[in-house]
Amino acid sequence: MHQVESYQKQLSALHSADEVDKFFKKIQSEEKNSEVLSSFALQTMKVFQAEQGYLTAYYCYRILSDHCKPEIIGDVKKIREGLPPLPGLRDYRTDYDELLALLENRAKGKCDCTVKTKYNTSPSDALFKIESQQSDQETYSTSYEVICKKCGQKWNVTEDSGYHYPVFGWKKSK
Ligand SMILES: [Zn+2]
Repeated sequence: MHQVESYQKQLSALHSADEVDKFFKKIQSEEKNSEVLSSFALQTMKVFQAEQGYLTAYYCYRILSDHCKPEIIGDVKKIREGLPPLPGLRDYRTDYDELLALLENRAKGKCDCTVKTKYNTSPSDALFKIESQQSDQETYSTSYEVICKKCGQKWNVTEDSGYHYPVFGWKKSK
């Protein structure tokens, strides 16, 4: 896993959030070996420090939830327990609660949508296809009709923009 160490070195040499953002976008588009990517994300989070900021934790969560198998549940539990609190509007550690729930759900052979729809996921998440959307100017809300690309389940989503960040309510449609 020579490449993993090389990525770790590159990441530790970065100093601004902007550089971290560019670095993760670059490796996500260029690294074709998903085992290298997920192993890098796992190693990075095992030694994660508050000074690194939430962006690293966010990208690693994205990589792990896109590429990981249930075998890493034990590692993710340990990572989640050790995550430091960070200032912010929402607790970034919720992402790791979702990741654990996703992995446990996958271990049972269930589709990711049953978990993602409980964790304020946006309908523009890659797992879903938006079939229609409608905005209501008076209530600052938008309704979507969405279909899960994996299992075909249809969902009705309501986006409420009256908060500091968008809040999504998901309901199964028949
Ligand atoms: Zn599904």
